[in-house]
Amino acid sequence: MRNIPAAPDHDIELSGGALALDFANTVGGTHVSPTHDHLRSYGDIVRFAGLAGGLDASTAKRLVHRAEREPARAAAVYELGISLRESIWGVFSALASGEVPGDEDLELIGDAAASGAARSRLVYDRDGFGWSFASDGDELERPLWEVARSAVDLLTSGERDRVKECASATCEWVFLDRSKNHSRRWCDMSDCGNRAKARRFHAKKQAARA
Ligand SMILES: [Zn+2]
Repeated sequence: MRNIPAAPDHDIELSGGALALDFANTVGGTHVSPTHDHLRSYGDIVRFAGLAGGLDASTAKRLVHRAEREPARAAAVYELGISLRESIWGVFSALASGEVPGDEDLELIGDAAASGAARSRLVYDRDGFGWSFASDGDELERPLWEVARSAVDLLTSGERDRVKECASATCEWVFLDRSKNHSRRWCDMSDCGNRAKARRFHAKKQAARA
């Protein structure tokens, strides 16, 4: 079991631009020494997926009930979820820095996406074609499959080159830069961006005094 950092004093933020990136950003501070963690139990993973659009409310409810009936299994899926999160972050953080992602990380993401794909069927509705989980797909791994699929979709899409890591030294959030001229530097301008601005302002004032 890993040491779970403190509970956060704010809710989950969805500034990544993709389900997989928002999942990677459920940690505050750095991934090596997080200041807080939004994912402290299996139920938290279900809650995240519900908030981030990866799970509908009724499925989320059924998964939480199933986790209560199968706590050992839920704990194992939780551990797998944390490994998946770290692999997703590892891959996108590497890409954002122009580095080659690790084989182990890619394997973990690919395995989770393949498990989900094996339980999916191709459907057609008003919105077009898409994957849907079989009606008996209430398996505890389901939110992880959604996240893994999002990661693979992004990795195999043209938007992969738009993934960046926050420019703050104390934040490792990853996000999709959809700005016209690819100029976004911060995960969130009102948070990390403003902190950086304040630091620059402070440094300028200090320099002016000296
Ligand atoms: Zn940031």
